[in-house]
Amino acid sequence: MLRRVLSAAIVFGSVVSVSSHSIFATELPQAKLLYTIPTKDQVVFFTADDGADRPPDAEAELERLQWPISSFILPSKVGTYASWFSSLGSHNDIGSHSAHHDALKGLSFEKQKKEICEGERRIKEKFGSTTGYFRPPYGSWDKRTLQAAAACGITHVVLWTVSLNGRTITTWDGKIHPGNIVLVHYVGSMAKSIRQLERRLKAQGLTVARLSDYLK
Ligand SMILES: [Zn+2]
Repeated sequence: MLRRVLSAAIVFGSVVSVSSHSIFATELPQAKLLYTIPTKDQVVFFTADDGADRPPDAEAELERLQWPISSFILPSKVGTYASWFSSLGSHNDIGSHSAHHDALKGLSFEKQKKEICEGERRIKEKFGSTTGYFRPPYGSWDKRTLQAAAACGITHVVLWTVSLNGRTITTWDGKIHPGNIVLVHYVGSMAKSIRQLERRLKAQGLTVARLSDYLK
């Protein structure tokens, strides 16, 4: 008898825990998560993070190429140089990247919300407005990140499928595909990355499109 009661309690307990979890998940709205954009257009999306450096040779390459850019900027890196970032390429759509560059996965909803909302607020102060896109530092996220982002007015959490470090291009399967989101950082080797990407895109017949044109 005791055994039967115990097992019933365990089953009951697990049912309660599963259903309360799913109620929590469905009640809070979530920002949309993107690793790539579904499109048949021969385009990729160029995104740049942080803002540690403002390399003049990268500025010159972007002036030459006139690529549209989406940036995910850390407020502490901008200083008084917001116009340097926003004038790059044909458009530079500015998004946020948290307040302190902490890994968010596993943190409470409240902690994640504070980080994301503060980053978004400070970037709005620096640039006047944002795209409402957010990139989690290190690509570290969980379901609470999407919920916290939505609570901060973020519409899209933007990850990536292609990353560049100097001349090294890292992809999921060795290839760049239409719709892929490309990540670089505002660092000294950014111009090398841009030239390397330009060669790869040209060889594959791909061009760079503006992310916000595909998220309307
Ligand atoms: Zn970063």
